[in-house]
Amino acid sequence: MITTANIVSRAYDAAPAGVDPKLVELLDRQRAFFATGKTRNVDFRLAQLKKLKKAVKDNEAAIFDALKKDLGKPPFEAYATEIGLTLEEIGFTLRNLRVWAEPTPVPTPMTQFLSWANIYYEPFGNVLVIGPWNYPFQLAIVPMMQAMSAGNCVVYKPSEHAPHTGALIAKIVEQNFERDYVAVVEGGIETNAALLQLHWDHIFFTGSPQVGKIVMRAAAEHLTPVTLELGGKSPCIVDKTANIPVAAARIVWGKFVNCGQTCIAPDYLLVDQAVKEPLLKALAAKIKEYYGDDPKTSPDYGRIINDRHFQRLQAYLQDAPIYCGGKTDPASRYIEPTVLDETPVDTPVMQEEIFGPILPTITYRNLDDAIAFVNSRPRPLALYVFTQKNAVEKQVLERTLSGGGCVNDTLVHLSTPELPFGGIGQSGMGSYHGKFGFETFSHKRSVLKKANFPDVKLRYAPYKNRLSLLKKMMG
Ligand code: NAD
Repeated sequence: MITTANIVSRAYDAAPAGVDPKLVELLDRQRAFFATGKTRNVDFRLAQLKKLKKAVKDNEAAIFDALKKDLGKPPFEAYATEIGLTLEEIGFTLRNLRVWAEPTPVPTPMTQFLSWANIYYEPFGNVLVIGPWNYPFQLAIVPMMQAMSAGNCVVYKPSEHAPHTGALIAKIVEQNFERDYVAVVEGGIETNAALLQLHWDHIFFTGSPQVGKIVMRAAAEHLTPVTLELGGKSPCIVDKTANIPVAAARIVWGKFVNCGQTCIAPDYLLVDQAVKEPLLKALAAKIKEYYGDDPKTSPDYGRIINDRHFQRLQAYLQDAPIYCGGKTDPASRYIEPTVLDETPVDTPVMQEEIFGPILPTITYRNLDDAIAFVNSRPRPLALYVFTQKNAVEKQVLERTLSGGGCVNDTLVHLSTPELPFGGIGQSGMGSYHGKFGFETFSHKRSVLKKANFPDVKLRYAPYKNRLSLLKKMMG
């Protein structure tokens, strides 16, 4: 006979030998916490999210400071793209969670008479979230918060390249949540590798497609589902009917915010040759307007995260004629906002994700050629098109695929909690933000409840001559 005391759990694969015992213990404790059922309660989740929101607000100055130290982020940008966006997402979830978490009743077929069917949104259990360095606050807190909103326990691993923000997040989490419920594990690649050997119920990864493959391979070992928020080269098409001053204003903003280190930044321009000259002129003018004659002295312009990325980016400056910009300073890892003129498509700058303040230009004569070029590359995370013609917008949207994008703007689809944010193909799988994040971290459990009476005999043997009746009901 079984009793709770004599059951040995085989619910999870054992941790491989050699993995840091502290990590194994942390996951064991979080599994035990999840098993208490506390996180299944929506009031509990709402209380935790409120606590998180308050902690973000209370730590505003410290967040500004950490982002300044890691990325030279100006406070305005830090608020718009990290703190503000995070607060909006938490607020949106707080307002809607009760409704999202309600079971959804659905109709049942005649063959299931008399029954009631419901979809229950249930937590996966223990979730690992791995973050990148470029928006190190927002890209940590939003997925963690959404995992918590769905009732999971969370371990978050920040990027080692934004250590100040990583340490601050660890402190905020430690001060506000039991470690058995939500914890931050700091460390480098080896820590990630160790965490990835453990058996999680879901892994949410934001980072490069290369590391995305490593994550997915590790997850396959335990059949763990993954959400991969990756990157790639996001094209920006400027049609000859575009409003050039508006296009330039929004392209320069979207490309050079956070010094170009944005996963959905316009990576390169595809410009109708008829408007190339006025567009490049307008781009150069906007760069001057936003960052002054010497962007190095602008308080509103960031820096490259580390020397490795600085050197990688500096090498791209050789790949095509420089239209404007091009100055660099290795000591402060400064790269001037730069527009490259006609750029050969086989150069490194057009082969790899740029992830920095360099904008190559490629011209086309027919929109069909621009579309064919986009489709000859891996499916991008974002695609932007600037045009004042509905037919052009339709043609581009109908004949290309991307994770998301904008018509006549850049980046802003990300800051709309009603829109799912995620990639397609090499730019990722799965999505989050708003309700989509809640769903990403929830298992949709289908439950059908049957009445005890009537107990329709149709399905039971002996079947006799009921086949024709069955065909009528199911045909
Ligand atoms: P990255 O893939 O190098 O690192 C991401 C995380 O993976 C970090 O925590 C890092 O510690 C870890 N990591 C690195 N190498 C590893 C390895 N070999 N094994 C295990 N873990 C490893 O990415 P990054 O440089 O931090 O960020 C840049 C990339 O992320 C770009 O491709 C960008 O487009 C993408 N990105 C995507 C989004 C999105 O929402 N889709 C957002 C931001 C960044």
